[in-house]
Amino acid sequence: MPDITARREHVAAWLTANGIAPDDVPLGRPITETTREDGTPVIQHTAFLREDGKLYADSTGDVAAERREVDLVVPWDTDADTLWTTEHRVTLLQQIETRPGDDAGAGQRWMEARNTGRVLVACNCGYTSGWVRRSDLPDAAAVYAEHSTSPPDVLTIHAGQSPDPTI
Ligand SMILES: [Zn+2]
Repeated sequence: MPDITARREHVAAWLTANGIAPDDVPLGRPITETTREDGTPVIQHTAFLREDGKLYADSTGDVAAERREVDLVVPWDTDADTLWTTEHRVTLLQQIETRPGDDAGAGQRWMEARNTGRVLVACNCGYTSGWVRRSDLPDAAAVYAEHSTSPPDVLTIHAGQSPDPTI
């Protein structure tokens, strides 16, 4: 089982070393180590905005946040191989069967398709159910609980990539 906590603590320590408050960095937003045009190394990240020390909602109802850029003080440790993990990401596939339908005229045929009732659940961590009848799946709720994808994406480092224009 991947140790997400250790990885998150490593990222948090790195952010702190660079003067960024980890608690103010939302999960699932890219953190980019890059350089300004003048060659200055920087960290681009998203940070929550605070008013009187408190988070607040923006006009869309999301927690207010903005993209920021700070000078890089401590580079990301790219040799931290022990931090690579195969986190849970559950995918469910439904098997479909098809057959040619009746001649629709002019030599054209519809293709009929339907679910076979078989599904395959696979997780990025390595788990796979194989193709099984949906009713034969081990308790689906238990599978999702064990392979929960939340919190999603934790913190993704994109070293050297161009800044993400979206927020
Ligand atoms: Zn999993």
